[in-house]
Amino acid sequence: MNDCIFCKIVAGEIPSNRVYEDELIYAFTDIAPKASVHVLVIPKQHIARLDHANQEHASLLAHMMLSLPKIAESQGLKNGFRTIINTGPGGGQEVDHLHIHILGGSKMPGFN
Ligand code: 5GP
Repeated sequence: MNDCIFCKIVAGEIPSNRVYEDELIYAFTDIAPKASVHVLVIPKQHIARLDHANQEHASLLAHMMLSLPKIAESQGLKNGFRTIINTGPGGGQEVDHLHIHILGGSKMPGFN
């Protein structure tokens, strides 16, 4: 876990452009955005992948999900947004710390 770059971002050891934070989650802009708005929402607690989560994480996962609309709206996405969770190598996950992508805006793939 100590080598996890997203844990280091939460700890402030790696700089990030924070867009939202509370006691449970942290949201920041993706370093290589795939749309004009591309935010990553992560739990502060290290959970490597969605399929490593269990019932103990249920309220945390619900909190993440329910926070997405207000984070998206804060980034100007008034007309909706896309969410993506890549899980494991078969899902294209590159960073082993659970994260939800929020994508939207004028350069979103497939819509412009
Ligand atoms: P995944 O493919 O694991 O679902 O997505 C990982 C995302 O993390 C990628 O979109 C990548 O651009 C982003 N990313 C990787 N390293 C960093 C970093 O150090 N800072 C930020 N802000 N984003 C990162």
